[in-house]
This record gives sequence, structure tokens and C-alpha cells, in this order.
Amino acid sequence: NDYWTSALRCVPLSRVCSSLPGPNHIRVLQWNVLSQALGQENDNFVCCPGEALEWQTRRFQMLEEILHSNPDIICLQEVDHFGFLYKALSCVGYAGTFFPKPDSPCLYVPGNNGPDGCAIFFKSEKFQLMSIDTRILEVWRVQSNQVAILAWLTVRETGDQLLVCTTHLKARKGALLSTLRNEQGRDLLEFVAKQALLVEGETGKQPPVILCGDFNAEPSEPVYTTILSDKRLCLSSAYAQYPLDSEKGDMANGNCMQQLREPPYTTWKVRESEGEVCHTIDYVFHSQSSLLVESVLEFPSGEEIGPGRVPSLRYPSDHFSLVCDFHLLSTDAKRC
Ligand code: NDP
Ligand code: CA
Repeated sequence: NDYWTSALRCVPLSRVCSSLPGPNHIRVLQWNVLSQALGQENDNFVCCPGEALEWQTRRFQMLEEILHSNPDIICLQEVDHFGFLYKALSCVGYAGTFFPKPDSPCLYVPGNNGPDGCAIFFKSEKFQLMSIDTRILEVWRVQSNQVAILAWLTVRETGDQLLVCTTHLKARKGALLSTLRNEQGRDLLEFVAKQALLVEGETGKQPPVILCGDFNAEPSEPVYTTILSDKRLCLSSAYAQYPLDSEKGDMANGNCMQQLREPPYTTWKVRESEGEVCHTIDYVFHSQSSLLVESVLEFPSGEEIGPGRVPSLRYPSDHFSLVCDFHLLSTDAKRC
């Protein structure tokens, strides 16, 4: 109906086609969907109208945003209504799994719907699930409150392998927390690298890796460098290497440095305690040699977002969804 049409996020359709040609073209959607309990009770989004945070409204917008991109793989954080997403997405051909945070802050919100956590969905027609592994991330060998899910998938038509991992690292500012995130990042890499070795042992090839999530860390933080400099996985950041339309002019003028920049924001909100927060903390990392980035979905401009920023009646989360089209090559993932 008209309401839902006008409430939809404006997606540049030229960058998002309805289906990708060939089994080895893979579209990934990465999104911190904003936990219903935290968004309504803890976040203090002072410029967001109350009705935009109502679950009855938000849940369909969330679903619309996911389905509009027609992703093959969906990686989500702050999921505290997995049952709703599971029911809806399984009706349209997705299989999925959820792993909660051990001591989710949602559990302290009156009337909560259970803990929040990470979720992975994938098109079951396209992929066969080989295994799912989960981890409570450790910091100096002690479990933290942050988690990760790792799915080993096989492309049904070609038999090619893929590891998909998603996480939501510790939030908040400060040097100690930045160190903590870096340690969580190290543990995450260890978790993924171990599984990659296992798959290599079984298949004879190092599998391509997609590692995405809300890392709660700007590109200047140590964890960003830790991930990109891992010699076992050789990862790149999909949005950093793909120039935005607005930057193509600079590229044409020979300014190649633009190519290595992350976008200016993946989240943009106004909180009572912090004021306006606009920065890049969500990423889609991928194996450099075996997953080629074909396109990425641009984020809406400040004008499209509006002065109240997000969430809003138009955008159901304070984070934007990252959507990347990859071409999966049938080569060994190694060789940085
Ligand atoms: P995190 O610090 O990782 O953050 C939890 C959530 O808060 C994230 O989803 C984050 O969103 C959001 N957040 C980040 N910054 C702010 C902010 N300035 N204002 C409001 N929300 C923000 O928490 P942990 O998962 O490590 O859990 C915190 C611990 O606190 C738990 O162990 C729990 O026991 C405890 N707790 C206790 C409560 C109580 O009432 N006793 C209440 C809440 C938590 P994003 O990632 O998008 O930035
Ligand atoms: Ca949040």
C-alpha cells in the first residue's frame, strides 16, 4: 500500500538488480538492524519520532529493506526477534541461524523479547550448509559478551566453498575499549582461520572468506588494521576498494587514493548523551584473491536521510545496510 511504498528506503536501482547472473555471483547484505528492546528503551534517539520505533511498524520495514536487495546471504546483528525474521524469510527460500549474546543488555529491558545476537541467513536453493560454528569471543582467554557465527556453505551448482562469518564487537568509546575490540578481532580471526584450515584439509583448497559485521570501530582503530593485515586470510574491505559514484570524478582525474577510503558513514544518529554521531563502523571484509567486488550499494545522502537522522519513519535502524555483489572465483583463496 501507499504507506509502505513511501516508507521504503530509496535504493538506487541501477546498482541493485533483481537477480545476479550465474551461480558464482553472490550478493551479501550486512546490517545491524537495531534491537527492538534497545532502540525503544536504551538508545535515546532524541530526534526519532516514537512511532518509528514501534515494532508493529518497524518489523515490515526491516523485512522490506532486506528483501528489496534480494541478497543471497544475509548477516545481521542486534537481532532480538529472530523468530519473526526466520518465519518470514523461510517463506521466501532462506535458511538461517541465530546465536545470542551471553548477557544481552536486552534482557534488562522490561517486556523484552529475549537476548539480542547475530544471525546468518542464506538462500537454500543456492547454497548447501556444510556446518555452522558459533563463538563467544575471548579477550585474553576470558569470554566476553560478544559473539560470532560462522557458516561453511557450498554453492550447489558449482561445488565451490565459502566461509561466511558475522559478529558484533563491543560498543562504546575509549582507549581500553578499543584495545578490547582489537583482542576480540584477534580471537575472531583465529576462529575463522582455524575453520578455513579445516575446510582446506577436506577440500584441498583454502576457502574464500566473507567476514562482516558491526565492528564498532572506525577505520583508524587497531582492530581494522588487525583484520586487514592478517596473513592467513588476506582480507580486503569491500566498500573501501569500490569508489562511490561521487568519487568517480576524482578517480578519473588520477586520484587513486580515493579507492582505498571507507565511506564517510555506515551509521548516523542523534543521541541525548552524545549528540550527532556519524561514522563508519560496519564492514564487509572478503578474501582478496578469490572474491571480486562487482558493485556495492550506496548509502543515502544526508539530504535523503533528513535532519533527524536515523532511525526514522523511512529507515528502521540507526545503521545502514551494506550490500555487496561478489564474483566468487574458483581459485585458492591464499596469495595476499
Ligand atoms: P555494548 O557496550 O557492546 O553495547 C550494547 C548495546 O548498546 C549495543 O547494541 C550498542 O549499539 C548500544 N550502544 C552503544 N552506545 C550506546 C549509547 N551511547 N547509548 C545507548 N546504547 C548504546 O554492551 P555489552 O553487550 O557488552 O553489554 C553490556 C553489559 O551491561 C551486559 O553485560 C549487561 O550485563 C549489562 N547491562 C546491564 C543493565 C542493567 O540494567 N543492569 C542494562 C544494560 C546492560 P551499537 O553496537 O549499534 O553501537
Ligand atoms: Ca545499537
